[in-house]
Amino acid sequence: MSDEPGRAQRPARLLTQNSQLKEIGVWNWTIPAWAGRFDDGTTYNTCPSAGICSKVCYARSGAYLWPQVRGKHQANLRFVLDDPDGFEEAMIAELGARRFHGKWIRVHDAGDFFSDDYTLRWMRIMRARPDSHFYAYTKELDRFRRLVSPDPPPNFLWTFSLGGTQDADLDPETDRMADVFPSEEAIAAAGWHSQLGDDRLAVLGEAPVGMSANRIPKFLNLLDGRRFSEWQAQENERRAAKKKRKTGSE
Ligand code: SF4
Repeated sequence: MSDEPGRAQRPARLLTQNSQLKEIGVWNWTIPAWAGRFDDGTTYNTCPSAGICSKVCYARSGAYLWPQVRGKHQANLRFVLDDPDGFEEAMIAELGARRFHGKWIRVHDAGDFFSDDYTLRWMRIMRARPDSHFYAYTKELDRFRRLVSPDPPPNFLWTFSLGGTQDADLDPETDRMADVFPSEEAIAAAGWHSQLGDDRLAVLGEAPVGMSANRIPKFLNLLDGRRFSEWQAQENERRAAKKKRKTGSE
């Protein structure tokens, strides 16, 4: 925690491990998912390119909503927003510890690369810590095309996850993609490759990558047997038709 005037409070530890990632020795940085409000009333959106995924977001249910967990994730985001230089310095410093050498860091258990500035800070952090490996799922296609793909840090891999507002611009020939399916059987039937058992398969295994939907009954009802990509395409068509009707009636 910083005592300097004008500097945000630095969370005691920036990187954590949830039970799934702990099993495979992966560390993780996270901020809250999608749109929310801090206690002082200010709002945020950490997933500006989220589409239908926000309706069934795993990180907006269960343990993620426990006050202690939500408070920790919001404190991380507050630190980034209030003191971006402090965040960058602190993350580089923390990653200097021996326990992170040779290890994988998942950037965002929830949330995404929500701004150009924040993305560029992560690129500098990764370059400053070449002894660690970093990976991420992202829906920020345009931002990555502009800021990351032309010259990525050599220790960073990512996959574009479907179910976002930029799905239609992805190129299956060149972009590594991950889709959420209703079940493991559906992944296999489509000829995609499951990352079950080791989350790093999202970037290290065969592509395209399949993930099985969270088994939360209300989410499975909404998913209605579809893949995220299918649901997003239907949503895009519905919106386009609505817009056309509106334009036609003007
Ligand atoms: S991008 Fe990920 S964290 Fe954000 S709303 Fe979608 S599923 Fe949730």
